[in-house]
Amino acid sequence: MATSVIAVGDELLAGFQQDTNSHWLAERLRLLGFPLKRITVVTDRTEDVVEQLRRDLWDAEVEDVYCCGGLGPTPDDRTFEAVAAALGRELVTWQPVLERIQRRVDRMHAAGLIESAEVSEGNVRMARIPAAPDHVFRNRGGMAPGLLYLVEGRRLFVLPGVPSELKGIFTKEIEPEFLTGRSAAVVRELRFLFAVEAGFYPVMRELEASHSDVSVGSYPNFETRELVIRFLGDDPGRVAEAMDIVRRHVAPMGLTPIS
Ligand code: ATP
Ligand code: MG
Repeated sequence: MATSVIAVGDELLAGFQQDTNSHWLAERLRLLGFPLKRITVVTDRTEDVVEQLRRDLWDAEVEDVYCCGGLGPTPDDRTFEAVAAALGRELVTWQPVLERIQRRVDRMHAAGLIESAEVSEGNVRMARIPAAPDHVFRNRGGMAPGLLYLVEGRRLFVLPGVPSELKGIFTKEIEPEFLTGRSAAVVRELRFLFAVEAGFYPVMRELEASHSDVSVGSYPNFETRELVIRFLGDDPGRVAEAMDIVRRHVAPMGLTPIS
């Protein structure tokens, strides 16, 4: 079973902002034993977010979906609307979230950061969430909450796009409670200097058949002139076997790994 990430934002697609959230989640989730099947970047348009949510939630191989971004106070933030539409739920004002927003506004007002202690229309929008969340995560760094919905055996996590807020909710609230009990795949690498990638083709084909439980990838680095052959698998013994097969196969070509 796998995980999918949907990053929402026109700015990501227009090249104004790099999608660092997906990259960060991909690594964290791999290390926690919840590897990704897919990352999708979609526009802020409701239909596009709904379409991708449906696709991921209906994918038999996906158990967890993370939908990030577009929870903010402005009209171009439509992720809650999209989640509500995809799940067939109403948008409702969630009182505890609204109260938290009010307390945050009060603090900001008391600190002289904002002129009025009144919760604006935009702020109220962030407390309008799809009905009946299974968990509401506290966002210590901002106003929009993180949410969890259980949908026919899948878990849909909805997170703010601001990287520090996303990371805060993920590490402080989601990891300890919802992402325990699994372990990361074993990752091993063989590094070769000045090796021709094509030389590895036959042995990688062979491993696809004999070691389909080990994923083997070839990654040339054109600056360092290193070729990295990376092995990922759940069973350390099988990963070691696959590495040995590669070592033995390329040795007659004069290729010995530098590490
Ligand atoms: P908030 O409720 O705190 O406003 P939000 O969910 O509305 O958060 P966005 O409005 O989508 O988030 O984006 C807020 C900021 O975070 C923007 O500067 C945006 O470029 C950045 N951001 C959004 N998504 C990503 C991403 N995938 N990777 C990196 N930065 C992102
Ligand atoms: Mg956005």
